[in-house]
Amino acid sequence: MKSGLSFVCPTSVSPWGTYLSQVDRVTPYLGELARWVETLKHPKRALIVDVPIELDDGTVAHYEGYRVQHNLSRGPGKGGVRFHPDVTLEEVMALSAWMTVKCAAVNLPYGGAKGGIRVDPRKLSHKELERLTRRYTSEIGAIIGPQQDIPAPDVNTNAKIMAWMMDTYSINRGATATGVVTGKPIHLGGSLGRVRATGRGVFVTGREASRRLGLELGDARVAVQGFGNVGSVAAELFAAAGAKIVAVQDHSGTLVNERGFDVAHLQDFSAKYGGIDGFKEGDRIDGEAFWDVRADILIPAALEGQLTADRARRITSKIVLEGANGPTLPQADDVLADRGVWVIPDVICNAGGVTVSYFEWVQDFSSFFWSEDEINQRLDRIILGALDQIWAKADEHKIPLRTATYAVACERILAARQERGLYP
Ligand code: NAD
Repeated sequence: MKSGLSFVCPTSVSPWGTYLSQVDRVTPYLGELARWVETLKHPKRALIVDVPIELDDGTVAHYEGYRVQHNLSRGPGKGGVRFHPDVTLEEVMALSAWMTVKCAAVNLPYGGAKGGIRVDPRKLSHKELERLTRRYTSEIGAIIGPQQDIPAPDVNTNAKIMAWMMDTYSINRGATATGVVTGKPIHLGGSLGRVRATGRGVFVTGREASRRLGLELGDARVAVQGFGNVGSVAAELFAAAGAKIVAVQDHSGTLVNERGFDVAHLQDFSAKYGGIDGFKEGDRIDGEAFWDVRADILIPAALEGQLTADRARRITSKIVLEGANGPTLPQADDVLADRGVWVIPDVICNAGGVTVSYFEWVQDFSSFFWSEDEINQRLDRIILGALDQIWAKADEHKIPLRTATYAVACERILAARQERGLYP
């Protein structure tokens, strides 16, 4: 399989820089609360940990891990853990800040946090991955907990890794603590609907945006970057609603199919071979050409910084659904706004995952579990209610949906900050 990394566009703006610029853009709309805005520019707590493990060949390797709690004004920290060779403290800071905004945007009683290890998990055996996860959990154990900070899956982490984290934390504390992580396997206190929740949220917000903008999903052409947990589920739901998935890109390659992919076939292929490259029911194109494919809806669902100003000038979509966190650079946001493209920002578009994580946490505390139908109905209600409020804010101030989402969310965060007051 080819690495495909040549089509990763290097970004001049770091994720933290992108986030700071997003905060600057919302400040004029915060009224009196703007007095507290600096609080959003300073993570509350950042922990760097050394994660040494013995490899299967007997040598010892050291990895750098992080856990950042950006803001805890509205409740315990909440946010995923990423295993990726490009993870840096600065990236985790930005991801934790976006979690603060996201939880407030959908009004969940959480602050924002995020974690990660700079590692390529594909190079580790199953046992090495388990040792890495357990040692990392132990190292950050002092600052996580069901009432303190609750990790969850993100890029390259999954339910199995959450099970190891829950087990390690519980052993260290001497009591089973299912609520310390979300995204767990079902028989360990996981929630029905959690695995598909983020993709579902992307679809639900996309369907609502399409309705408002008069785009028929039955005729829509959709391009998806990232075919993992988020992108593949969103693609599946759009295809089920009648849309055609005409382009898919992942780390291994880029494929197009004018008739629309059979998403289930592509999911099976990708699960078996670790990527989409080599799938026969589509034509391989150059990675950069992905941004020129004619589509009505574009779903960046891979990594941050992908939609640059240049790519924003070239895309043909009317709607961008940010499945990934931070996929659009601030300059690209300006280009898209000028071109009349509607961006449903990450902090609402992909909030389905954290919303069902919240349901999982609530179910763990009450030891009473809901049906998948109940979960999906509650999820749709929360996401659509939040989107409605955000759209009204955008209409009121004639601002892009991202700035409107930040306005709704930051008012909640800073009001909590103000009401709690400063200590001492
Ligand atoms: P994942 O590991 O399941 O999938 C990531 C996908 O991105 C894979 O298909 C991978 O091949 C692809 N990818 C990686 N590098 C790429 C590149 N350079 N170019 C094109 N594709 C590339 O991860 P995920 O959970 O689907 O997360 C994707 C994004 O969604 C991330 O930004 C993550 O932070 C965000 N997100 C995830 C969740 C969740 O519940 N999993 C929730 C909210 C946001």
